[in-house]
Amino acid sequence: MSDPKRDLALSALAGHRAAPLGHFVNGAPMAGMGQAFDIHEPATGAILGQGLDATAEELESAVAAARGAFPAWASMSGADRREILHSIADLIVKNAASIAAVECLDTGQCWRFMSKAARRGAANFRYFADMAPNARNGQSLPTQTHMNMTSRTPIGPVGVITPWNTPFMLSTWKIAPALAAGCTVVHKPAEWSPYSARLLVELAHEAGLPPGVWNTVNGLGETTGKRLTEHPDIKALAFVGESRTGSAIMKQGADTLKRVHFELGGKNPVIVFEDADLDRALDAVVFMIYSLNGQRCTSSSRVLIQEPIYEEFTTRLAERVKHLKVGDPFDAETEVGPLIHSRHLEKVRSYMDIARQDGAEIAARAEIPAGSCGYYFQPTLITQAQSDMRVSQEEIFGPVLTALPFSDEADAINKANDVIYGLAGYVWTSDVGRALRVSQALEAGMVWVNSENVRHLPAPFGGMKASGIGRDGGDWSFDFYMETKNIALATGPHGIQRLGVPS
Ligand code: NAD
Repeated sequence: MSDPKRDLALSALAGHRAAPLGHFVNGAPMAGMGQAFDIHEPATGAILGQGLDATAEELESAVAAARGAFPAWASMSGADRREILHSIADLIVKNAASIAAVECLDTGQCWRFMSKAARRGAANFRYFADMAPNARNGQSLPTQTHMNMTSRTPIGPVGVITPWNTPFMLSTWKIAPALAAGCTVVHKPAEWSPYSARLLVELAHEAGLPPGVWNTVNGLGETTGKRLTEHPDIKALAFVGESRTGSAIMKQGADTLKRVHFELGGKNPVIVFEDADLDRALDAVVFMIYSLNGQRCTSSSRVLIQEPIYEEFTTRLAERVKHLKVGDPFDAETEVGPLIHSRHLEKVRSYMDIARQDGAEIAARAEIPAGSCGYYFQPTLITQAQSDMRVSQEEIFGPVLTALPFSDEADAINKANDVIYGLAGYVWTSDVGRALRVSQALEAGMVWVNSENVRHLPAPFGGMKASGIGRDGGDWSFDFYMETKNIALATGPHGIQRLGVPS
């Protein structure tokens, strides 16, 4: 497999693949002495390199570095932190091509989407950099007798644990606000795709980030991740991953009363009413489930179609699915690449049998490249599904779309909400009143009307129900990474009850 972009990725990682990937602690690489684990290239199935599971001592040094760096970083002016974060963004932009190429190589995500990933990561840094100078600002809440003044201070060293699907973007999304708030960070990227997180922390230090402010440890969830979540010096945990891992992390962090922010799984509905612009709805539905290889938390994995247009819309969907271009993630024409790992491929495949056993129909599939050894899965459309079937209920996290008919507005809302998840919802209709009614009724943290997922950084991002706790974006991010304090100052001699006064 030869491609100049793949060569670029391999050369960017040359130093990191020569020996098992260790950690980056206190401003410098740390070789690591823990167990090695394999890192695969999804497009070929070949071993790309190895990573090292941090030992308890190595994790301890990372936390100690974050703790040691916290006072100086927290007390640095917001304007100075802003400068450093902008410098990080500058370096991300300068290295955008190699970051994008590494992301394709390590995750199997397609170049057509990853080519923008680095720039989105830089935008995250710039957005929160500009908020840093005002992050501590609070409110003044005067009464007749007191001036109440709120202010915010960074909570302390925080743990950030990220998944494998779009690791670069998600790391910047969680870490940039933490740094802007004045927190120091210990980051554990996912073991299946750890390379871009390493490039990121190195760039941050090249940009002038003081040692210890941002530390990256590699390792498995049940060892390194667990230790990080249990550590008493880690004051808050920002976690992106599966709902059941979030639940485990909540238990692990309970003894130390950890503040948690969870961005978890989804089984997001897209509701297509008969009065919708069906051409645009079709484009959006196909994009939202088959882009990013279907490994996308906000993917529209359930399409609810109003009965009069069900046949027509599923026929058009099937036509699109059959023509999806599955292939080498580096090929600019490729629309769907391989899944992340053989274990994930098995999981996604298993849903084909589950669908048939439950009585649904595999209505259309795309072709995968002949003779490939990579973790390719045929993008699939499932029809004849009922809401209680597993393919309608469970997060498959692959390029699999389940189509369900609905009769009217009430039926659409019932079916849309009939899952444990509540991350995102999409509504397609030309009736403005209905759009608002249905959006209000959806149990989802985010609803897009007549649109695919278009992110606006100041808007809140996050889920309800089993899809998460807390919101990211704008000031919501600072609420998580900071403590709010109220100071009440008496403005005059208000009456104080006098107890114990001798009569
Ligand atoms: P995962 O939960 O298996 O792993 C995520 C991270 O948690 C990894 O770094 C892993 O090593 C770590 N981990 C695992 N067990 C742990 C434990 N006991 N203690 C501490 N850390 C532990 O998730 P994944 O398979 O990597 O990612 C896919 C999931 O992420 C999907 O469910 C997807 O919906 C979700 N996701 C959600 C969002 C969102 O914004 N809501 C965004 C992207 C992905």
